[in-house]
Amino acid sequence: MEYLSTRASDKKGEKRSFLQILLEGLAPDGGLYMPAVYPKVTDAELTAWRRLSYADLAFEILRKFATDIPESDLRELVHKTYTPEIYRNVRPDEDAAKITPLRLLERKDGKTLALLSLSGGPTLAFKDMAMQLLGNLFEYELTRQHAELNILGATSGDTGSAAEYAMRGKKGIRVFMLSPFGKMSAFQTAQMFSLPDPNIFNIAVRGVFDDCQDIVKAVSNDLSFKSRQKIGTVNSINWARVVAQVVYYFRGYLEATDNNSQKVSFTVPSGNFGNICAGHIARMMGLPVAKLVVATNENDVLDEFFHTGVYRVRKSAETLHTSSPSMDISKASNFERFAYDLLGQDGARVKDLFGRIETRGWFDLSGKPESDGDEFGKVQNFGFVSGKSTHQDRLNTIRFVKEAYGIVIDTHTADGVKVAREHQEPGIPMIVLETALAAKFNETIREALGSDAARPAGFEDIEKLPQRYVVMPPESGDIKHYIADHTGL
Ligand SMILES: *Cc1c(COP(=O)(O)O)cnc(C)c1O
Repeated sequence: MEYLSTRASDKKGEKRSFLQILLEGLAPDGGLYMPAVYPKVTDAELTAWRRLSYADLAFEILRKFATDIPESDLRELVHKTYTPEIYRNVRPDEDAAKITPLRLLERKDGKTLALLSLSGGPTLAFKDMAMQLLGNLFEYELTRQHAELNILGATSGDTGSAAEYAMRGKKGIRVFMLSPFGKMSAFQTAQMFSLPDPNIFNIAVRGVFDDCQDIVKAVSNDLSFKSRQKIGTVNSINWARVVAQVVYYFRGYLEATDNNSQKVSFTVPSGNFGNICAGHIARMMGLPVAKLVVATNENDVLDEFFHTGVYRVRKSAETLHTSSPSMDISKASNFERFAYDLLGQDGARVKDLFGRIETRGWFDLSGKPESDGDEFGKVQNFGFVSGKSTHQDRLNTIRFVKEAYGIVIDTHTADGVKVAREHQEPGIPMIVLETALAAKFNETIREALGSDAARPAGFEDIEKLPQRYVVMPPESGDIKHYIADHTGL
């Protein structure tokens, strides 16, 4: 399988393999890597896959994309990653051996509503599903190259902790994670800062999340420092993260159906469009998906596009801080991957339109006079629809789900359930992806229910564990010194 950039002007242009793009972020031309063609899944394969464990299913799907990893190595990597021990934090009545158990909420008037649990991993959010595999893939590739990598990132919560738990103890890898000092919840802070592994460095910056992100940019823009210190990232545009997420769309489908003539729809609480982009890829591979429902919170860049054809990014000052904070984005970094398919895989158009995002802040595909194109009319061919949810909707939905189905869901999943209920169709099961467990966002659970969310076993006293971190001023020079001192490079 070969990969090319969404902005490549020529399909015969420079192609890369899976391992060649594994450790990279953006393509050199500023685009995102995509497979040159989508591998197709046959009806016979889909039937055979009904019997597979999660790890074996992951192997079957990933081998179509990671064709330069020997099959025995790939099999070992997925079996090491997708174990019931690593994904043990599912609800007590769910089966950890399934890795991503499907929970039926309701079957009524021919309509089925179900929850796909993706948050049983070490940090209680769906990012572990891909990040745990990435940790093993990175270690594999760095060992093969006799190389090392120093991952630099900024986090306000979920991504940083998922990266640290994936990379802890891995050979050849160090993680330097910047977070705004005193601004994360006590639970999230404890999760990250209590890690004892010597290859994990928590840097609490006296500032806000944007300061942390600016420092990462400043350090990465110092190209000689970046190459000398072997600086890399694990952000959501990484192709391996996207492709690892394709697996659970197949898994959810296979659990919800008993033959391949049936269709299902998925609703995905979305921010950077990474999760639902994997659903799009699964559908392009031939998974029988009726609708892909994008659920946003008050930060509705994506909902606006799927209703109007106008993609208009926001400034960071216009980004609202909401009670589903992992969806508080102003620009959906993986959206370019879907736009590439919508625009008929025309790299020159993608380059032009996303160039306009940089200069003008928006593009318009509505087909109206003076717009930039009319491809919005084709969105329905890809199954995409959308909806949005507010703080009040989250509170109402958390209460409703507790009363009607007896379980407590987190704020992001609540955005998903709210929007999913607006798009249900008879005969087509609607699967909502559960992107985090309620324990991570307990403040809003208290506001909705007047009581605390249950914590999985082992997390009861996490705030009392000893913490390891340094506090630093928001100065990229100081951070560079700290990194250099600890890499010895
Ligand atoms: C990251 C995250 C999301 C958004 O996922 P994207 O891939 O960025 O669209 C939603 N919910 C939770 C809990 C997350 O951590």
